[in-house]
Amino acid sequence: MNFEVDQRGFYGDFGGAYIPEMLYPNIRELEDNYLKIIESDQFRDEFGQLLRDYAGRPTPLFRAGRLSEHYGTHIYLKREDLNHTGAHKINNTIGQILLARHLGKERIIAETGAGQHGVATATVCALSGMHCIVYMGALDVERQAPNVKKMKMLGAEVVPVHSGNKTLKDATNEAIRDWINHPVDTHYIIGSVVGPHPYPDMVTRFQSVISKEIKVQLAEKTGRHYPDYLVACVGGGSNAAGAYYHFLNDERVKLISVEAAGMGVNSGLTAATSLLGSTGIIHGSKTLLLQDGDGQIKEPYSLSAGLDYPGVGPLHAWLAQSGRATVFAVTDEEALQAALMCARKEGIIPALETAHALAVLDKLKFGQDDTVVVNLSGRGDKDMETYIDKLGF
Ligand SMILES: *Cc1c(COP(=O)(O)O)cnc(C)c1O
Repeated sequence: MNFEVDQRGFYGDFGGAYIPEMLYPNIRELEDNYLKIIESDQFRDEFGQLLRDYAGRPTPLFRAGRLSEHYGTHIYLKREDLNHTGAHKINNTIGQILLARHLGKERIIAETGAGQHGVATATVCALSGMHCIVYMGALDVERQAPNVKKMKMLGAEVVPVHSGNKTLKDATNEAIRDWINHPVDTHYIIGSVVGPHPYPDMVTRFQSVISKEIKVQLAEKTGRHYPDYLVACVGGGSNAAGAYYHFLNDERVKLISVEAAGMGVNSGLTAATSLLGSTGIIHGSKTLLLQDGDGQIKEPYSLSAGLDYPGVGPLHAWLAQSGRATVFAVTDEEALQAALMCARKEGIIPALETAHALAVLDKLKFGQDDTVVVNLSGRGDKDMETYIDKLGF
């Protein structure tokens, strides 16, 4: 089976570029140039240097001794939480800001829901002296005040979007409108492996540094360059795609994708996209999404803002449909308990998104000689209010 994107931008049945005609020139410019640029020696040097000196890579692969003991197996945590800005998102925004510069762009736009991608984008724009405009639903601007302030401190312009539900989908529409109106000088930084081709492949490549490092670090620590299980949470799917990339064709590695069940897969309040979704088009891509019988996108729900997305990147739709990845869904409550356990057993407070990946350890049966790698996508600082509220400290 093939898990690389094909010529037309598809993974199996999923992907492509379903976009308004007015976006063709923008997407065409990216499609024609992205591989040439990111595979050039100059780009590789610049990207590698910033990942190392700015983001703080390589991130450690940590053998979690007490979790290993608890689960009777060998558990390793890939510490993406130790990146600058506290999550894997910076890998992608560094890649895209360099690409934008190579394309001669001077103005950056982005959409953000919870604000994590907005902050990662504002960060690299400050680093490169680029003008940064972040579209954000007006409701999210209210709900995510600390991240809005961070973006402003970093010099970004945050534009509240008052249409629709005033959340991520509306912010995305506004960003696309902006891009149509500024095709020449503007690059649109998408925050996950979603959107029209070539974004899913481009973002996967930028995040693939995660699996590249896991390979080397596992070989050093275990004498074997692959794990038996590789676990990651999936919102749009960028941290998972990065953690999986160099193992996609290695069938010895069981890929475990964890979605947010919210209040329960069958509760109606859920973001279990590949488990419940059907094929449709969202944000320019054919993929699995939560929709009703009339093809209206259903509002997803998860306590975790980063997993609260009605679609999933096309690579993940294909991994799920082909059976290459096994998909689990974890409820809010299970994730909260897993976050608490990680804090108490390893002294690491994970992001609530990441806590979903950790919670799946309870649902799998491991052998005592298995090697399990969990991608620790981010740190929990941003979620402290939720933890305090729900866990009652
Ligand atoms: C944004 C985010 C996610 C979800 O995004 P993916 O594209 O699915 O990786 C997961 N974990 C953390 C810490 C995040 O900030």
